[in-house]
Amino acid sequence: VWVGKRSELPRKYKSAKKINAKGRMVLPGLVDSHTHLVFAGDRSREFEMRLAGQSYQDIAKSGGGIVRTMGATRKASESELLETARERLQVFLKQGVTTVEIKTGYGLDFESEKKCLKVIDRLRREGPPTVMATLLAAHAIPPEFQGRKHEYTKIVATDWLPKLKKYCDFVDMFIDDGYFDIADAEVLLSQAQKLKIPIKLHADELKLTGGTDMACKFKALSADHLLQITQREIDLLSRSEVTATLLPTTAFFLKTTHGPARRLLSGGARVALASDFNPGTSPTQDISVVAAFGALQMGMRTEEVIAAITLNGAYALVLEKQKGALLPGYDADFIMMESESVARLFYEFGQVHRHLSVFCRGKFHGT
Ligand SMILES: [Zn+2]
Repeated sequence: VWVGKRSELPRKYKSAKKINAKGRMVLPGLVDSHTHLVFAGDRSREFEMRLAGQSYQDIAKSGGGIVRTMGATRKASESELLETARERLQVFLKQGVTTVEIKTGYGLDFESEKKCLKVIDRLRREGPPTVMATLLAAHAIPPEFQGRKHEYTKIVATDWLPKLKKYCDFVDMFIDDGYFDIADAEVLLSQAQKLKIPIKLHADELKLTGGTDMACKFKALSADHLLQITQREIDLLSRSEVTATLLPTTAFFLKTTHGPARRLLSGGARVALASDFNPGTSPTQDISVVAAFGALQMGMRTEEVIAAITLNGAYALVLEKQKGALLPGYDADFIMMESESVARLFYEFGQVHRHLSVFCRGKFHGT
């Protein structure tokens, strides 16, 4: 309701409950605007195969990759998925992440996608953190639809989306080489627009296939990954309201170059950073590592990194009037940290800060 100097505190708040920060820094709660947190199974054996020199194609041929996670997720019960997802969510909260976006996309049939959305819905009602749900049924082409991806897209658009609308805040789609193309995007995204469901997109990660163009055309909240974009797409994003979401731990894990953060920022684009937490390409939940990559490998300045994991993440979830800043009217999601600089949040990367206190909507949530 109010932010300012203690000496200027309006009289009517003088009797309010006090929390003494004891000289610690107070920051908005962090926002992770891109995760795939609901899944079953373990893919570490595939990682071992990859380290032994096998290619993704080899691994996929031997039953690995996304299809393996899909199989395990389809098999898992709602309560099994809920239990692991709940634990993972607490891992985020301990680091000061008070808002988390979660995508489906490992069910890939109607009942399994619905099951994952119901898990996310349950987590949302349990809270904290604040949870936002995204339907990513167009994450990959399910084995049942091999060679018939246009048909699959059409079913998702015309049948699943209207039925699952009540469970999801956003619709997402993996537009890339070997996945969904521009024609598929037209079908699904125009339907999402018709149903007034805001759009987020996986765009131009593996190859430049028009995902960023689609994000701008359909006024998506965010275009995510963007590893392959050129100056043309940077200009498009800079002129748009689409948040450019970069996922550095994924680029690291895939051993590719990072997204063009510096050039996007110079162009005037809004840049968010997120974990992309998923079993295939970013198995980490460590937001300090995400931020450290932004700073050390992508040339982002301290305040740009902090904005990328707070307010700009909130923009990517249409929460920019509620989350990611400490302003009157916003939710009182904040963290307190013993530090002489906000940079300590990612300067000490790869560990949870011992002196971090986390508050969600004004309530203390640990450490
Ligand atoms: Zn993703």
